[in-house]
Amino acid sequence: MDGTRTFLIGGEQVAVIDPGPDEEDHIRALSHALEPAREIRILLTHRHTDHAGGAVSLARATGALLFGPVSCRPPGDSGVPFQVLVEGDEIPTDEGVVTALEIPGHAKDHLAFFWEPAGALFVGDLMLGKGDTTWVGEYLGCVGDYLDSLDKVESFGAKVLYPGHGPPSVEPASRVALFRRHRLRRVEQVRSARLENPGAGAGELAALIYGGEIPDKLVRAAVASVEATLFHLDSQRD
Ligand SMILES: [Zn+2]
Repeated sequence: MDGTRTFLIGGEQVAVIDPGPDEEDHIRALSHALEPAREIRILLTHRHTDHAGGAVSLARATGALLFGPVSCRPPGDSGVPFQVLVEGDEIPTDEGVVTALEIPGHAKDHLAFFWEPAGALFVGDLMLGKGDTTWVGEYLGCVGDYLDSLDKVESFGAKVLYPGHGPPSVEPASRVALFRRHRLRRVEQVRSARLENPGAGAGELAALIYGGEIPDKLVRAAVASVEATLFHLDSQRD
């Protein structure tokens, strides 16, 4: 996969979106880029380590303040102050305001950030810059949340989407449509596999759907995704 993209907005009053993994060289390069800044805020889209792992190290190296969804709160002994962000919270930069937007699905308390002057929406792992899918299987209810978040991003009307991996897109609506189509196709696959194989568990259904192609290390993720999709199908019946 493409490495995580870190975005810097502003010159002196800066927002850093997703510092990325906790790797010494990477944190050093970021700290260097931030040397001219006098006020730094680190904004996290979600807690996965490839996005948030380096947050505490970067905050310690630069004196930055840390902001993000509640699951990103660092351990109490980290010594880094943390502020929870929710829908509509605004973060100032000297290049304009950045606004938090809740887009659960890939992670339960995933945030996007809208930078108004550029019409840019930073969507973390809701959508990737390449392909048409991202992992959706972290918790029961994630598939419904994910589809709702795609609708929310589409109706938001941003000019450009910046995913956490891969290139940006200046056609947000068609990008959203692609990811929605993939997810709905997967939901339909799980629905018909279950119909054809009554009594089969999530593990058997995952093997049927993904064939023998799942590398061992991805089996758990595939089964979790099928379990979340089964939950989605059941919750739609009510
Ligand atoms: Zn992620």
